[in-house]
Amino acid sequence: MKKLEDLIITYEDFPKKGIDFKDILEILQYPYIFKELILKMSSNQLLKNAEAIISIDARGFIFGSAVALESSKPMIVARKPGKLPGNILTREYDLEYGKNSLSIQKKALKKFNSFVIIDDLLATGGTVNCVSRLLQEQRKEVMGLITVVELNKLKGRSKIGFPVHSIISI
Ligand code: AMP
Repeated sequence: MKKLEDLIITYEDFPKKGIDFKDILEILQYPYIFKELILKMSSNQLLKNAEAIISIDARGFIFGSAVALESSKPMIVARKPGKLPGNILTREYDLEYGKNSLSIQKKALKKFNSFVIIDDLLATGGTVNCVSRLLQEQRKEVMGLITVVELNKLKGRSKIGFPVHSIISI
């Protein structure tokens, strides 16, 4: 029987030379493993103290929405440029392989005071720090990050000023 670790496939030099890309989408082809993962993420203590989840475009949405259902927490989203209508807050940040920016709808943010961030993978920590900056600038509390995979060698955790829970560290 397959294990979660077996479903994280490394592609060398993707999308750029020198990057070991971790493809985790195969997890979705094994519902019993996906379910076990979601149950683990949803039972994390960090969620108990948060009013809502914020999940990050795009693979973060897959895991975030399943955790939102399982934990009965509301979810809002941080999206890439040009995707969200209405009044938005936007910040740019550096990625392991390039630049990106993320936006949050002001209307969605207004309803909640404390958040757990959910994403698929923690690399340098730039993405998560961008979201936490957006939240903290609006005087929202960030209770922590729950991620499926953490890449230890990039030391993202050391740049994050709140608790980090990863299901797999590699
Ligand atoms: P970072 O901001 O460096 O922590 O990067 C985290 C975000 O970029 C996550 O949303 C990942 O989906 C993506 N990412 C960064 N590095 C990798 C990698 N080596 N393999 C897969 N996804 C990655």
